[in-house]
Amino acid sequence: MSDQKYVVVGAGPVGSLAALYAAKRGHDVEIYELRGDLRDPSTTPLNFTRSINLALSERGINAMRHADQQDLIDHVSSATIPMRGRMIHGRRPSGEIFEESQDYDIHGRTIFAADRADLNRRLLDILGAMPNVKFFFNHKLTGADFKRRKAWFEVRGQDSPSGRPEEIEVSFDFMMGADGAHSAVRYHLMKFTRMNYQQEYVDTLWCEFQIKPKEGDELHDQKSKFRISPNHLHIWPGKQFMFIAIPSEDGSFTCTLFLPSSEFAKLESDSSKLPAFFDQHFPGVTSLIEPGELASSFKTNPHLPLISIKCQPYHYSGSAVILGDAAHAMVPFYGQGMNAGLEDVRILFSILDKHATAENNNPDSPGSVDVAFQRGLALAEYSAIRVADAHAINDLALQNYVEMRASVLSLTYRIRKFLEEFMSVHLPSLGWQTKYSRVSFGNERYSEVVAKSNHQGKVLMRGFIAILCSPIVAGVLGLYWTRRRSLGGVSLLDTIRNLRR
Ligand code: FAD
Repeated sequence: MSDQKYVVVGAGPVGSLAALYAAKRGHDVEIYELRGDLRDPSTTPLNFTRSINLALSERGINAMRHADQQDLIDHVSSATIPMRGRMIHGRRPSGEIFEESQDYDIHGRTIFAADRADLNRRLLDILGAMPNVKFFFNHKLTGADFKRRKAWFEVRGQDSPSGRPEEIEVSFDFMMGADGAHSAVRYHLMKFTRMNYQQEYVDTLWCEFQIKPKEGDELHDQKSKFRISPNHLHIWPGKQFMFIAIPSEDGSFTCTLFLPSSEFAKLESDSSKLPAFFDQHFPGVTSLIEPGELASSFKTNPHLPLISIKCQPYHYSGSAVILGDAAHAMVPFYGQGMNAGLEDVRILFSILDKHATAENNNPDSPGSVDVAFQRGLALAEYSAIRVADAHAINDLALQNYVEMRASVLSLTYRIRKFLEEFMSVHLPSLGWQTKYSRVSFGNERYSEVVAKSNHQGKVLMRGFIAILCSPIVAGVLGLYWTRRRSLGGVSLLDTIRNLRR
């Protein structure tokens, strides 16, 4: 057992995993959470009307694997649904409704639909069984002094004699702030370190809907409860907006409408237009969600903003660090927010472990080096490494909104995907992969993913130009694009530009 007291602020998925890593290393861990215990059925998950399903992929799973807790990994494999690709829904010019599967990966790897609250509860259960972990629910961080290593929490539901909520003072050796996008730890950290900070609200709001499972005695197996394929992330791309659906184990789908605020305002002013709006832009949805229910979900469920946050550094001295959304909230279009947050934990502890080992191996003064000083070195290294990667995935997430709502339908997108997958299968020694595969099925640094993908784009563009310069190919392609353009398709110049992205 170490003599170090680790305080974790926020018992979301990232804070819970950070607490588990710390507890496994023998530290005394205290977890302070603003809300009640998520395992209590009366506690509503933050921002969501019920638990939402989200896409869990390799980085998140790898971080849990490194927690060295087999029952957590067993839970992940048993309580998630593999999603092998996107199912694109639309309407052909003839009026016919279609669905088209686009596999995520030529090698058959999948991402997983996971129930966020269920995963969170599992982590809390595991922590609850550890003797060196203490929970403090309904405790809101209100202040922190990172030099003196003291923090103040308001205890909700316990008023002092003056009628104000009671406040307690807590000492700590190390604080990990995983308190989400509107992090109080980050706010107080800014007073101690010269933190650069940038936040952006994208002009899109989101609202949650649900596709219910099929009901009836003829449903013998679990799979027949799903109204649409359970092994896909369903997308209704609408150019300026989109609707998506992610499967849940009970046969339902958690759906999200992403729409510019002006469009939300129009529909809010006259919600009777909602079914017609869906029929026009998201064909087929009104046969999956009955129009009355569509309208009531739109009315009842909150219309929430999307925020993208970049800041640096993530730490102060050896006493505090921010992780997950607190450090890099991102728009959800790459399905990486939680995955990146869980990966933060793995990377942070790998660096902390390295410095702790260096301290123990020091032959001149074994054990005498100040633990906080060593941790300060580790945290500085963590910020230096992680900032570039977090900024890279924040940018990719913003770019992927365009890909999901529009590019998935474009010819250029498909050509590039085909060529990159072709190279991956037939010339594996070159190490080519699609950007999506690198992000979702690997653990390479996000900044390296961007660099490698940009390189592949440049090579493809050069190859494409070389082919165009061949006189016969140029003639045939020239005719093809002239014809496509006259039909309102993408210009040749746009195609070349898109290949580079
Ligand atoms: P949070 O989940 O926000 O948890 C923070 C915790 O801190 C909360 O429990 C909160 O109550 C507590 N807290 C806040 N303030 C205080 C305080 N002052 N004192 C004490 N406690 C406090 N990610 C993916 O990886 N894949 C997806 O498919 C995906 N889809 C998404 C879809 C939508 C619509 C949205 C909005 C997000 C999606 N995300 C996805 C992102 C994901 O939900 C977040 O990245 C993830 O929840 C971040 O976890 P966290 O633990 O850092 O923060």
